[in-house]
Amino acid sequence: MDEILKIEHLTKKYDDITVLNDISFTVKKGEVIVIVGPSGCGKSTLLRCINGLEGINDGKVDIQGKTGMVFQSYELFPHMSVLQNLMLAPIKVQKRKKDEVKTEALQLLERVGLSSKKDNYPRQLSGGQKQRVAIVRALIMHPEILLFDEVTAALDPEMVREVLDVILDLAKQDKTMLIVTHEMAFARAIADRVIFLDGGEIVEDTLPREFFDAPHTDRAKRFLKTFEF
Ligand code: ADP
Ligand code: MG
Repeated sequence: MDEILKIEHLTKKYDDITVLNDISFTVKKGEVIVIVGPSGCGKSTLLRCINGLEGINDGKVDIQGKTGMVFQSYELFPHMSVLQNLMLAPIKVQKRKKDEVKTEALQLLERVGLSSKKDNYPRQLSGGQKQRVAIVRALIMHPEILLFDEVTAALDPEMVREVLDVILDLAKQDKTMLIVTHEMAFARAIADRVIFLDGGEIVEDTLPREFFDAPHTDRAKRFLKTFEF
């Protein structure tokens, strides 16, 4: 049984408004799922329901292990150095040993090319560097699934690549990931499967090649027309 996440008939409402309607899909260990869809279609809400940040009204979210989430806004603590930001949760929440956590933090910083920034404060980093620190902060908790919610949307174009490259590297290491993005070339390159959400419903759940070259639905065709890539 290598299913790591199973969502069955998930429905989520805000007041009387249904924002996710009867969502079902499963994710296998090591799979990379890219979730795309127009603004307001429910992508962030879906990740938040999976992560337990939002309660659900109906259905089931069955998850093997814990999740780590990376947001558009990095949410690093401004008064703490990079290393302190990374070490806080593993030590305070997971009760791990300081030496071991520090060794891992330094290894992960090395992997994302930020060893030299370990003692810097967030305000001394570029947006792309802050986002790479935020990714390391998620990784160091050893989550079974990583959730990315438009992590490059707030970045200047020249910094998008460095963050996407880190995520591509994680895919090569067989991490299980759910990625919400508007970077369509990246989506196509990294996805094992593409889920197209529209109006709170899964409209397509298919292979990237199929989604981008021969979408089944008019809704997907219309959505893809708004991108040039
Ligand atoms: P996306 O991430 O695809 O842009 P969201 O998941 O943020 O979409 O939002 C889906 C819908 O739910 C939108 O119509 C949005 O206005 C609504 N929504 C999101 N969060 C809340 C909230 N906390 N309270 C009420 N409505 C919300
Ligand atoms: Mg969103």
